[in-house]
Amino acid sequence: MLTSIKDRAVVVTGASKGIGKGIARVFAAQGARVMVVARNADQAAATAAELGNGAASFAADVTDFRSLQAMARATADAFGGIDIVCANAGIFPQVKIEDMDPDDWDQVLGTNLKGTFLSVKACLTYLKKSDQGRVVLTSSITGPITGFPGWAHYGASKSGQLGFMRTACIELSKYGITINAVMPGNIVTEGLDGLGEDYLKTMAASIPLKRLGRVEDIGNAALFLASKEAGYITGQTIVVDGGQTVPESLEALEQA
Ligand code: NAP
Repeated sequence: MLTSIKDRAVVVTGASKGIGKGIARVFAAQGARVMVVARNADQAAATAAELGNGAASFAADVTDFRSLQAMARATADAFGGIDIVCANAGIFPQVKIEDMDPDDWDQVLGTNLKGTFLSVKACLTYLKKSDQGRVVLTSSITGPITGFPGWAHYGASKSGQLGFMRTACIELSKYGITINAVMPGNIVTEGLDGLGEDYLKTMAASIPLKRLGRVEDIGNAALFLASKEAGYITGQTIVVDGGQTVPESLEALEQA
């Protein structure tokens, strides 16, 4: 199962840590050649070295189209093409609407939403040449399904990714490229470090499976969507949240 990943060229944005690193690790373990993309060159290189299996790194900012174009060229030069793009880089600064500066909005939308578009666009020439062209977006439950104070801009960006995906699904299908999104719940990553123990404990208690997610939980879903076996799935989402979005109320959880 899923043998179709071996030797495939995979770009993972935001792969130096967190969910992206988990995705990169899962793909590398299946024999894929992974390009680790992040702004911090040293961290990206350290992650690529950890992954092994010929993984490489490139310092690029997903808000900067030129740096993404250079990254795509470097990936194609190193691996002979690009088969799979995991557009995962994202930020989630927490600030309530009353205190939100218009620039805060632009920064989050620019990274999470425009960055998704730019990452796909920069790799498109190469994806079109692949016989297994795949795009996997890291969206979120926050925005498309749920809300959380401080994340109005973030939620809008994560919903926006799904809007982008649905039109991209139609436009890219003529090249045999599929595009799908994973919607993580609360996943333990460095990005959650600032939110504190209380947040993590309360979150775990609100999840039917009673634990936060692991980065590999997202990596495994991305792996499936990128596989040959998932070739007839496009424009779709998979929620990976331990059941967090299912209970109607706290009571529904407590009664179980
Ligand atoms: P994280 O631990 O903070 O890692 C973020 C990664 O993205 C890092 O590699 C970072 O490296 C990179 N990055 C940030 N801005 C970038 C930019 N402008 N250009 C290129 N790379 C950039 O975050 P995470 O928790 O793994 O989140 C990753 C993705 O999952 C995000 O899209 C987030 O919305 C989504 N998500 C996370 C959770 C969760 O519970 N953690 C839940 C739902 C969805 P540099 O700083 O070096 O660039």
